[in-house]
Amino acid sequence: MAIKVGRWDCEACGYIGNKGPETKCEKCGSPRPKNVKFYLVEESEIVNNQELIREALAGEDWVCSYCHAHNKAGDNKCQSCGSLNRPEEEHSRLQKKLYEMDEVPTNGKTIIPIKENKTIPAKNKLKRGCLFSLVIFIALSVIFAILVTFKTEIDVRVDSKQWEHAIQLEKYDFVVEEDWELPHKAEKIESFDAIHHYNKVSKGFETKTRNVRVQVGTEEYVSGQRDLGNGYFEDVYSTRPVYENQTESYEVEVFEKVPVYQTKYKYRIQKWTKENPAITHGKNDSLCYADISSIQSSYPIRAIDTINTYTVFIIDHRGDLQEEKIDLTSWKEIKPGANIKAIKSTVFGTYLGLKQ
Ligand SMILES: [Zn+2]
Ligand SMILES: [Zn+2]
Repeated sequence: MAIKVGRWDCEACGYIGNKGPETKCEKCGSPRPKNVKFYLVEESEIVNNQELIREALAGEDWVCSYCHAHNKAGDNKCQSCGSLNRPEEEHSRLQKKLYEMDEVPTNGKTIIPIKENKTIPAKNKLKRGCLFSLVIFIALSVIFAILVTFKTEIDVRVDSKQWEHAIQLEKYDFVVEEDWELPHKAEKIESFDAIHHYNKVSKGFETKTRNVRVQVGTEEYVSGQRDLGNGYFEDVYSTRPVYENQTESYEVEVFEKVPVYQTKYKYRIQKWTKENPAITHGKNDSLCYADISSIQSSYPIRAIDTINTYTVFIIDHRGDLQEEKIDLTSWKEIKPGANIKAIKSTVFGTYLGLKQ
């Protein structure tokens, strides 16, 4: 527990560096200022003398309430005016102060930890640039979305129209498949052993090592300084853990993938499978479907669905050919060569579709 001698500066003559415990200026003899500020210098002596250590630890100096002179804790009367140091006299005392290491006053000035200038790292600048671009992009998108909503009605000419009826077909054909079981009615081609799945089997344990940080004890360190209020300073200690990197071994279970075989079958079986659709199409209003009963096939054929499309081709306001898929009722009403209503974008002039 090191004790050091502090310093104080004389306000009367400006002398710098009076020894902390001295209550009068070394140069002009003026008393310590009322609000004396003790500080440490690099060459502050460590006190080894037992008597001075006792003085340092005796307590804060007291301030005479009559003449304001500073007196040692052990003085039973004021060294300046002789008034007694008794509880009823209500003399005040200088204050003890506790400083963290980085705020210990030195050479008359309190060192304020220098705050680093907040410069924006390049990465942040980049982020801001990205953010700015994003905001611009969103704004432009919103403007575009608003402009697109302005529409104007136009007349377009029907060039031609077309219908198409597609019957989705399936045929009951033979296919070759493989499976773990032979289905009913299947005709077996062959059976063989194949990997069905893998089992995870333990191969035992393996010893591995890893580095770990282990607390091996604690250490004391000087974490601050205490101004004892009498010109002396005392080291303040704190405790912190001490770590060491150690190698630790541990066991890991090792597994192996072992294949499990089972009998697999290859067989022929008759199934409904997809067949090309039967399509009919035309340009006039006489609609019809393909006659699937007339399809030449060695296997049964069945219809499962129909997909009908009705298309009109129109020449838009710019002379471009446009294709529109519409419902049957509307399609029947539209005649080639006639004019019908459509819409275009007011701002961009592009063709948007038939008027609903
Ligand atoms: Zn002085
Ligand atoms: Zn006094």
